[in-house]
Amino acid sequence: MSLNKPSESEDEYFAREEAAKLQRQAAAQAQHMQKSEREERKKLHFMKCPKCGFDLREVPYRGITIDKCFECGGIWLDDQELELLTGHKDHNVFSGILKLFRADKTPA
Ligand SMILES: [Zn+2]
Repeated sequence: MSLNKPSESEDEYFAREEAAKLQRQAAAQAQHMQKSEREERKKLHFMKCPKCGFDLREVPYRGITIDKCFECGGIWLDDQELELLTGHKDHNVFSGILKLFRADKTPA
């Protein structure tokens, strides 16, 4: 183990600081953006993969809707859906999601 490796709590601290900074920047950006520009962006990007631009497909799972890109394999969760999953009684909920999409790696 390297002596320079940050501890988990240091990692958490820097990740939280970075997230808070990005949230402030996004709020400032949204404040300066016209409503029409925000609506135009939503029209262009709604249900498109943020990584590759392919259409996202909705997969219902345990009370939420997973938005899945079957092109690059990315998975998107809407606001509050991660909280709903982490609050789930079954702590294996994330491995359940992985198993859910394992089939898309199998040749047809
Ligand atoms: Zn994608």
